[in-house]
Parts: sequence; C-alpha cells; structure tokens
Amino acid sequence: MASLPLHKTLKEMTLTNVSVGYDGGVVVKNAAFQLLEGQIGCLLGPSGCGKSTLLRAIAGFESLMTGEIMIDDQIISNSSLSVNPEDRHIGMVFQDIALFPHLTIAQNIAFGLSSWSKESAQERVACLLELVGLAGFQSRYPHSLSGGQQQRVALARAIAPKPKLLLMDEPFSGLDAKLREELVPDIRDILQHEKMSALLVTHDQMEAFAMADQVSVMDAGVIHQTGSPYQIYHRPETRFVASFIGHGDFLSATVCGPDCVHSDLGNIRGDLDHGFADNALVDLLVRPDDILHDDDSAFVGVIVSKWFRGSHFLYRVKLSSGKVVYCFASSHHNHALGQKIGLSVHLDHLVLFPR
Ligand code: ADP
Ligand code: MG
Repeated sequence: MASLPLHKTLKEMTLTNVSVGYDGGVVVKNAAFQLLEGQIGCLLGPSGCGKSTLLRAIAGFESLMTGEIMIDDQIISNSSLSVNPEDRHIGMVFQDIALFPHLTIAQNIAFGLSSWSKESAQERVACLLELVGLAGFQSRYPHSLSGGQQQRVALARAIAPKPKLLLMDEPFSGLDAKLREELVPDIRDILQHEKMSALLVTHDQMEAFAMADQVSVMDAGVIHQTGSPYQIYHRPETRFVASFIGHGDFLSATVCGPDCVHSDLGNIRGDLDHGFADNALVDLLVRPDDILHDDDSAFVGVIVSKWFRGSHFLYRVKLSSGKVVYCFASSHHNHALGQKIGLSVHLDHLVLFPR
C-alpha cells in the first residue's frame, strides 16, 4: 500500500460508523466523530469501555468490522482495507514510557528521523529539547531522568518526525498528581506550538478538560456525546454523560411550562425551552454549584455530610422527599451535621431526562 502523501498538518480525520472488536465480539460500536486541524480531541470513559481499542484502530493495529476512518480525503481503514501503521504518519505516546534505555535522550528523540539529513535531524532534536524544557539533557540516559522528564522525552520522540496526528493513551496515569498537574498544560502548549492534531485517551475528566478542545464521552463501547468540555458538563445529552462528568444528582420534577419545572425545591426556571410537554414527569440534573445555601429560602434540607474545601463548604443535604443532593455554601457558613439549612436553586438552563 502506498504511504499517504506527506502534508504538513492534518486537515481532518473523520470516523464514520466505526465498529471494532476481538474474535467476533464487538467492543466499539458505531463510533463517529471528526477531528480538525490543530485540534486536541479526547476519548473519555471508564476503564474497559473501549478507548484503547478505538485508538489502536486509528493507529492501524486493529482492523474495522464496519465503518471507515478517513484522513484528509483518503480512507485509511474500512472493513476490507487498512493502510499500514507506519504509512499513516501517526505518532503514539503510551502510559508505559518505553524509551530506549541504551540510547541517549538526543538519540531517543532522533529515533524516527533516520530519513532526515544529519543537520536537519540535529536541528529538530535541539529545537524539541528546548520545547519540552530539557535543553542540556541531550547526552543523559533515560534512567537518570524523572518519570515526568521521561514522558516529555517520549512526547518529543513521538512528534519529532512531524506526524499528522499524535495519539496518546493514558500518558499521564503513571505520574503522581502534582507532576500531572504541571505536565498537562505544558503538553497542551507544546502541541499547540507544533500545530499538532492529537487524540488523548483518559479516564480522568480533569485531564480531559485541561487538555482537550473536544471530548468524546464513551461507555461500554458507545460514544454518548462529543463536544467541548463546557458542553459535556453543562449540556449533557444522556444520563450517563450527566452522571459521569462532575458531581450530579437527579431531582424528580414535573414540567410546569416551556422553561419551568416544579420540584422539591420549588419552581425552577431555565433560560431555554426544554422541549417537554406540561405535566411530563422528568429528572432534573443538579450540580453542587446549582444548589446554594440560602437562609431566606423556604425550602430546607438536613445536612448529612460535609467537606471543607477552603473557599467553600460542600454539603450533602437530605430534602423532605428523602432525596439527597449536593449544596455549595460560602466558607463562612459552617453548619453542623443534622442541622436544617435553607436552599435555593440557580440554574441557567434545565437539563431534563424523561423519568
Ligand atoms: P479501555 O482502554 O477503555 O480501558 P480497552 O479498549 O482496553 O478499554 O478494552 C475494551 C474491552 O476489550 C475490554 O473488555 C477488554 O477486555 C477487551 N480487550 C481489549 N484488548 C483485547 C484483546 N487484545 N483481545 C480480546 N479482548 C480485548
Ligand atoms: Mg486503555
């Protein structure tokens, strides 16, 4: 199979109706999304939902049962053809870093540059060492670097040949939380500097939010929703997305107008037509920051748990119906367990699911 013509950057990758599986069993079902030039996408979902399987299909290590994957107007995979992984111009970074232990940092980064002239390869390595914050480390060996530094080298090695697309499978999960918090925004900056399109796989939503322009939320092999982090948090389209992303509770409610529902916490209004008929029985998504402690409110709940978060308290509050919800209160409102507090709901728009 001829290799793809070498473009500087990806224009678009499109997945249509992609199913992937093992031994006849389907693991990823009808996946569809698009990634555009310079975008960072993310497959986010619980362990075992099929993220790595889909990523490997994009890399060319798994064949498709149905559907197709296109890169810049060329089909790279469908049920009957598959462009070789090495001809796809795709770079990969994995959780287990796997640098070559007997090669120096510079030699590791230069690994994919064998077809480049010596001068351009040296120039590229120097530029990448600078970019990933490891200038001066070129002659060191991997074992003498920390985990975070090794992952920076792995990234530099993957992007050195200027692939059209970088795939990253849980690249931060071997690192401790503090290191991860530093590395994630750095890697986003590096990818943007290189105008590199990338697809990240993670089960960690904070990582997804910090890295990605577009997140595809997966469960049990199915992509439930693809959207910006803001959209999937504030406008979840399925119950799974609503409960997997952020803390969420569902309040039983009855529709009382195009922008209004009635619940245990009174009438709640949103800024958009929710599309349900009057008197429909629904579940309303409420987040901790939607329910605020309000001494003047007639609606009360009993505190059943509490966490001090510095800038605020997060309470679990039991309503008269027995339903338990999260509630935010400012840091000075230190109430005891068992105490009754007033609650009011502040939502921009109503996220409703049929009961
Ligand atoms: P994730 O990356 O979301 O944790 P995976 O894609 O690794 O999920 O796995 C999805 C499902 O496919 C799991 O049930 C897993 O056991 C199964 N699976 C993964 N790799 C293989 C394989 N090589 N052969 C058979 N089943 C596999
Ligand atoms: Mg995986």
